[in-house]
Amino acid sequence: MKTFRTDLHIHTLLSPCGDLEMSPANIVSLAGQRGLDIIGITDHNTTKQCELVWKLAQKTNLTVFSGCEMTSREEVHCLGLFEDFDALRVFQDYLNQHLTIIPHNAALFGYQVLIDEDENILEELENYLGASLDVSIEEIERKVHELSGIFIPAHIDRPRNSLFSQLGFFPPELKVDALQISKLAEEVTIREKYKISQDITIVKFSDTHFPSDLGKIYTNFEMESPIFSEIKMALAHENGRKVQVP
Ligand SMILES: [Zn+2]
Ligand SMILES: [Zn+2]
Repeated sequence: MKTFRTDLHIHTLLSPCGDLEMSPANIVSLAGQRGLDIIGITDHNTTKQCELVWKLAQKTNLTVFSGCEMTSREEVHCLGLFEDFDALRVFQDYLNQHLTIIPHNAALFGYQVLIDEDENILEELENYLGASLDVSIEEIERKVHELSGIFIPAHIDRPRNSLFSQLGFFPPELKVDALQISKLAEEVTIREKYKISQDITIVKFSDTHFPSDLGKIYTNFEMESPIFSEIKMALAHENGRKVQVP
């Protein structure tokens, strides 16, 4: 078994709150320099910048998974990660159908730019990506799992946009692959505070929006190889695979 430093919650410049320096090329090069083995691209309510990050990483040792940080109707943030671009495209259609339409104000919320390999702007997204989807967290979870994806409620300990801040409890029907705690949180404290059973895996990712934060926070995945099925097994602590928050 090998250990892979993994951070599956990273924003690109396409997120309104993502720094313009978070270009796909910059993310790939910094992630490599700072010792990450696996990253996940999770912009707010869009997957459109994922493929370029993945493509640029093909010439490196870095593994990139594509995903999204969704905002549910209850304003809960949750991560979805997908194995391939077919699933990702279906999920992007789902996002297009369900994003609440609020015209984006770049001066107020920051740019939402989609760029190409030469860092030319392909598109400035017109609808505000920080708006919520018109579907519940349970509906989003079912959609992610229908596409064989990984579903992880984000930064569950935060006072805003988290499972506990928005719902006040953990919905018993919600099937999570793990829960992500925020960078300063301690796993033991969080388990105790929110009464999270040991059967539920806890991970820590960076939620990076700025180059300076990249690589600082990660979870170690102990598994055979950096592929999606191994990530799933590690999260489920199956067949000797496991995750460990350093
Ligand atoms: Zn978030
Ligand atoms: Zn985030």
